[in-house]
Amino acid sequence: AERDFVPAVVIGSGYGGAVTALRLGEAGVPTLVLEAGRQWDRAGEDGRIFCSMLEPDHRSSWFKNRTEAPLASLMWLDLVNRAVRPFAGVLDRVHHGGMSVYLGRGVGGGSLVNGGMAVVPKRDYFEQVLPEVDADEMYGRYFPLANRMLGVNSVDQDWFETCESYRYARVSRAHAHRAGLRTTFVPNVYDFDHMRREELGEAPRSALASEVIYGNNHGKRSLDRSYLPAAVGTGNVTIRSLHRVRALRQEPDGTHVLAVEQIDELGNPLGTKEIGCRWLFLGAGSLGTTELLVRARETGALPALSSEVGRHWGTNGNVMLGRLLAPWERTGELQSGMPALGIDHWHDPVHPVFAEIAPLPAGTELWTSLYLAITRNPERGEFEYRAADDSVRLRWDVSQGDPSIDAAKALFDRINRANGTGYRHDLFGDDRAFENRFTYHPLGGCALGRATDSWGRVRGHRNLYATDGSLIPGSTGVNPFVTITALAERNVARVLAEDFPR
Ligand code: FAD
Repeated sequence: AERDFVPAVVIGSGYGGAVTALRLGEAGVPTLVLEAGRQWDRAGEDGRIFCSMLEPDHRSSWFKNRTEAPLASLMWLDLVNRAVRPFAGVLDRVHHGGMSVYLGRGVGGGSLVNGGMAVVPKRDYFEQVLPEVDADEMYGRYFPLANRMLGVNSVDQDWFETCESYRYARVSRAHAHRAGLRTTFVPNVYDFDHMRREELGEAPRSALASEVIYGNNHGKRSLDRSYLPAAVGTGNVTIRSLHRVRALRQEPDGTHVLAVEQIDELGNPLGTKEIGCRWLFLGAGSLGTTELLVRARETGALPALSSEVGRHWGTNGNVMLGRLLAPWERTGELQSGMPALGIDHWHDPVHPVFAEIAPLPAGTELWTSLYLAITRNPERGEFEYRAADDSVRLRWDVSQGDPSIDAAKALFDRINRANGTGYRHDLFGDDRAFENRFTYHPLGGCALGRATDSWGRVRGHRNLYATDGSLIPGSTGVNPFVTITALAERNVARVLAEDFPR
């Protein structure tokens, strides 16, 4: 087969991949980024790049016949999802038995679809989760660097108190305070000044036009506006979209060889090629990186990988739930799609919870408070290879999500008691109040210090690195992308200093 060679390859263009590409490029290393999804820079026939959440079309979903939104129903009615034609859309929902994982597909990975919440984890918890990482260095240097590079900003609190867009958050806050709980403002990569002008009618609406999960047409500083153009701007980094890496191996002289499939936006195969490189960085996300490594180990392509690869995977304890409020407690028809407030109950010794006060931007009054709770669920999943269909499957039983529900229930029972409210049971397709069968925050699979050394060097094979959420063993206690970004900055700095010729 025809084979190209580049010194360094980065697989995936999410947070870990984007950071790594920029720092390699700055160091003068010719680098190729291979991204399975498309480049989101061309407007469709409606003049917009992304579709809205309320009117999803083919752009919404990664090769599905029907959208698969996190809220499956309203009043148990299947009003939310739409038939769509299969396309290289921006949001994927990967099904693994008892667990579905949401992830972003495109140049920018999860940054295209996420809520932009940029949270530095609690230091003592970070130290527990990643004891081999020097916390002084992270909190003194790499978290501030990540925040700066990502363009993190905070909401103007005077505006927050009076605007219409965050009425829903103020109502939730009042209910939390009535239960004696603490709330905290959460920084975001969405430009809050743009949002303020959206409400005034001075800027095109995105967060205020129900845009989140299927992409934002304005206002959000996703990676395709921060790290990635900077990486390309070094002159050393090339990004190839709609290029999916299928398999990895390493030749005796150390050359990594990738089998890469190119597709068009409709999924038609355009050909397969081999790409060789000397340094290989895996930034395909927790699922993507783990899948590539587990398959490579089990098929004998990378036989020296450790048995720790494919372990220590978790959901960051994600649970979603809604509360039904009294008819006089309006949460508002206009709701910012970008959350700005959380209930911080992480210090609870039994049931720590950090609950993001989430929007329900349906464009109509629903008297509902929605939350994405992050809990400390100790359960972990493992990945196994199935030779019959060459697939890598996550083993996660629905019951492993129970500790997440226990924690969320303890907190929200307390809020309901203090406010005379109850749960909504009509949002998740059946009559469950708590949705713990999906996660937005897949973490682990190639855990730092276990499957890798303390800097993300994958054990067993030379010049092979994990750079993304796969490094974090299952939990960060907060929304994870700032942690992923800062860790990637820290690791690539060390790797560039030690593993590359001067
Ligand atoms: P990703 O960002 O997942 O990037 C991996 C990339 O690799 C993808 O673009 C993928 O297409 C590509 N890829 C995968 N496999 C291959 C392959 N074989 N070949 C080529 N390319 C491949 N986090 C927060 O901190 N705050 C939030 O507010 C927040 N909200 C979220 C809302 C939603 C709806 C979702 C889905 C996630 C949210 N997250 C949030 C989580 C956050 O987006 C992820 O933790 C983060 O994107 C993970 O970064 P990563 O670098 O590990 O990988």
